[in-house]
Amino acid sequence: MADPAWFALFAELPRESVVEVEGTVRRSEKSNRGVELFPSAVRVITRSEVPLPLGVVDKVGADLDTRLDHRVLDLRKPAVRAIFELRAVVLAGFRRAFTDRGFLEVETPKLLRQGAEGGATLFPVQYFDQRAFLAQSPQLYKQMLMGAGFERVFEIAPAFRAEPSDTVRHITEFTSLDAEMAYIDGPEDLRATLEEVIRETLTRTKAELTEKDHPFAGGIPELTAPFPRIPFETAEEWLGRPGAEQDFGTEDEKVIGVRAEKEYGSPFYFLVDYPTAVKLHTFYAWRNDANPRKTGYFDLGFHGIEIASGGPREHRIDRLTENMTAGGFDPKDFPGYLEAFRFGMAPHGGWGLGIDRIVWMLTGLPNIRETRLFPRDRYRLDP
Ligand code: ATP
Repeated sequence: MADPAWFALFAELPRESVVEVEGTVRRSEKSNRGVELFPSAVRVITRSEVPLPLGVVDKVGADLDTRLDHRVLDLRKPAVRAIFELRAVVLAGFRRAFTDRGFLEVETPKLLRQGAEGGATLFPVQYFDQRAFLAQSPQLYKQMLMGAGFERVFEIAPAFRAEPSDTVRHITEFTSLDAEMAYIDGPEDLRATLEEVIRETLTRTKAELTEKDHPFAGGIPELTAPFPRIPFETAEEWLGRPGAEQDFGTEDEKVIGVRAEKEYGSPFYFLVDYPTAVKLHTFYAWRNDANPRKTGYFDLGFHGIEIASGGPREHRIDRLTENMTAGGFDPKDFPGYLEAFRFGMAPHGGWGLGIDRIVWMLTGLPNIRETRLFPRDRYRLDP
């Protein structure tokens, strides 16, 4: 029989305190877990303050802002921790799928002198007596590594975008899975590899989580159908505006996602053959001389959300510098990047895939912020 003093101690000890207990574990019909612990010694290691700003075992849910304000307590909930277990398995799966295909994992600088994606979403940084920027993507470095003869690289790293819009799918710091491949014949080589890598990663993730009876195992799709390639023009017809040459908005993407799933039985789909007028591509995108109206760029959608975007890059230095000038960039500002093209550069291409977006879609949660431990957005820098 346990000492009644323990009851008094535990009755008064605030929830979430940390204790060390020595005792005997016995089978018990009365307890939910089928066992009871009879203490012989108890030591309080840290007492929790009261009241808790956020309940950890309460059935009543708190709103997302309150949860994120007290994220450490929120992360103690098994249902929240489960998101990060899923995320870790997905990341491990991607690493393995790329490595098995001969891709080298790389890490490129996140403090840059120049951005590649245009000024509007760049975060400036005071870098001693110079101005620098946080990397929006590893784009230019991935290409430089093609110039270094690495041929196949991937990187899983933070990307920073000063997104002023407050949406459920944008955050200012996200994890980007970027890949770049040399000696491609065209965008289909890229799409085929991306499709394979996703299929393999999700198949492994589903198997591993199912074995553990994990709460997110059921939501991971079984990818039996090929990912359809939907021409931009077909998607425009689905939206009832053929030939409009207007980029797709959030609502359009949802409609396309539902239709793609209905017609092809696949939650993933490529949107291909973007018109040049729509995909406002930056200087590094390959120009399609055979059909200047179309780019080789594509997006990958998953349940109606864009999760990746990619295409072939320009490897001809004369075209590259022309594009820079036409886009308002000064080639003199990119000496290291351009040097990579001056001494032999293979045709190449790649893509960027948002890890947070794919994990978000796999969980079915309402907001992308839930997939990051400590998300950053327009208004949130703490905790
Ligand atoms: P969107 O049109 O959804 O704003 P984007 O066209 O700016 O995305 P890209 O520059 O093509 O995105 O980036 C490639 C991928 O990186 C996107 O498909 C997405 O998965 C991810 N991504 C880009 N911006 C964000 C963001 N602010 N928050 C979360 N993920 C992002």
